[in-house]
Amino acid sequence: MRALTISTTGSLDAVEYSTDVAAPVISGPGLVRLRLQAAALNHLNLWAIRGLPGATVTPKWVLGSDGTGVVEDVSDDVTSVQRGDRVVINAGLSCRRCEYCLAGEQSLCVKFRVLGEQAPGTFAEQVVLPATNVRAIPPSVSDADAGAFGLATLTAWRMLVSRARVGPGDEVLIWGIGGGVAQAALLIAKARGARVWVTSGSDEKLQRARALGADELINHTGIDVGREVRARTGKRGVNVVVDSVGSATWEQSLGALGRAGRLVTCGGTSGHVLQMDVRKLFWNQWTIMGATMGSDSEFDSVVAELVAGRLSVPVDSVFPLERGREALERLQGGRQFGKIVLQIGP
Ligand SMILES: [Zn+2]
Repeated sequence: MRALTISTTGSLDAVEYSTDVAAPVISGPGLVRLRLQAAALNHLNLWAIRGLPGATVTPKWVLGSDGTGVVEDVSDDVTSVQRGDRVVINAGLSCRRCEYCLAGEQSLCVKFRVLGEQAPGTFAEQVVLPATNVRAIPPSVSDADAGAFGLATLTAWRMLVSRARVGPGDEVLIWGIGGGVAQAALLIAKARGARVWVTSGSDEKLQRARALGADELINHTGIDVGREVRARTGKRGVNVVVDSVGSATWEQSLGALGRAGRLVTCGGTSGHVLQMDVRKLFWNQWTIMGATMGSDSEFDSVVAELVAGRLSVPVDSVFPLERGREALERLQGGRQFGKIVLQIGP
């Protein structure tokens, strides 16, 4: 089958468009095989290309975590979907047996894995994955919207709804509004009645975020965002900060955070090691929280929003699978507004 693969970790030069990858087969209970139609890029694809601790790349390794496609085949015991169903993928693979899985907290699974990182991914004509990781969607949802949807909205939902519990009256600051998770966070926070602040290095992206509902715009180029937020809020700061940038923004995020503020993070694209003054943490009574991906029930929630037409992430661009490396370069360069999608099927 055709697929976007790597045979060794490194730079984007390691990414190959292959036409001779062995098609995956259903090898046990509880599985489905999809014929993929579209699959979005995520930052974690770039991490997988650079090499992740604990993830072994066996040539040819298929990249890709998000996706949408049609169910081609299912294990005998699968009843949740059937052949011919169009589905959207949840990329988080959980063991279904540990105490976290049994408690319904699949993203805390002690054996948690992600498609495209520790299991063959979705930038391919076919993928095999657990039936519990797919949900049927109606024809009203386009391939690009469905392919762009899973990871960004699930991650944002867990951060804002389950972890930070954003609601009416909250002021929420979201860094880097060009990215899919940030945009999903904006849409979810607005739908829950919050006022939303967004940052970008691009005035054009800020204006586009305004059209998505952003209330306060900050071009973060050359300024201290924490100071700017305090100046605009009479020194009160915001209630919630969504920061997945890490070391480059951390101090400014804390500077923007008001009393009893909640800071939620799902990553550190600029660097992973952070510093803080514990006096600020206890004096302001902050809560610092992490989140990654989401649970089965959170995935049900975001898919219900998608099906109802209330939540979808902007699509920046669509590339054919064979131009996948070019698409990854666009993601790495940070030029996008929304999700970059690979079209795989016809
Ligand atoms: Zn588990």
